[in-house]
Amino acid sequence: MDETGTLAAMSELTAPELLERVLEGNRRWAGGSTERDLLGAPEDPLEHLPPVAVIGCSDARVPPAAMLGAAAGAIFTVRLPGQYVDIPVASALGFAMTALNTRLAIVLAHEDCRAVHAAYEEYTTGVPPNLALAPLTGALAAGLYRAGGAADLDNAIDVNARVTAQALITECPSLRSAIISGQAQLCVMRYSPRTRLITLLEERVVPHAGVV
Ligand SMILES: [Zn+2]
Repeated sequence: MDETGTLAAMSELTAPELLERVLEGNRRWAGGSTERDLLGAPEDPLEHLPPVAVIGCSDARVPPAAMLGAAAGAIFTVRLPGQYVDIPVASALGFAMTALNTRLAIVLAHEDCRAVHAAYEEYTTGVPPNLALAPLTGALAAGLYRAGGAADLDNAIDVNARVTAQALITECPSLRSAIISGQAQLCVMRYSPRTRLITLLEERVVPHAGVV
């Protein structure tokens, strides 16, 4: 193990430090660098201890590890169109939080998300624009409805991202307890395929008072 790896093993990165590192990684990716950060994960390819988890969209233009400048082994990923969260998705994140020592969870939304655009259209017109995707966009549209709606397509991206974060808080007890105990952090980001840069929408999502 080289010196960097030894130091990483000696001092585990905290959630705020991990957030700083992935934002740096994104700036490298946006600048065209192929340098990858292990984020303190083991260099041994047989070990699986990713410090960061991403709940992202299936969109092929938004590959989480690459756009966060992270190496193989650093990021646990769960992806459905529109970063939809259901019980199996929350369960996958719960596994990372409890068994893999994951400390930073990221909701990774993106501009020009066709799934969210379809959901917004369904929310405003009552008609799903794509029947194959209708079961999923219907669920996303219901999230927009519960959140009080969205002003336009762009706003729907951010509203849906925050709905995703609240769904994770609600449906993933291990994430909730790790946030409350200060062991973990949940943040919300929006990626732009145009600039390749991330905007941090929420640095720290916390459970509502009374939620345990
Ligand atoms: Zn998308």
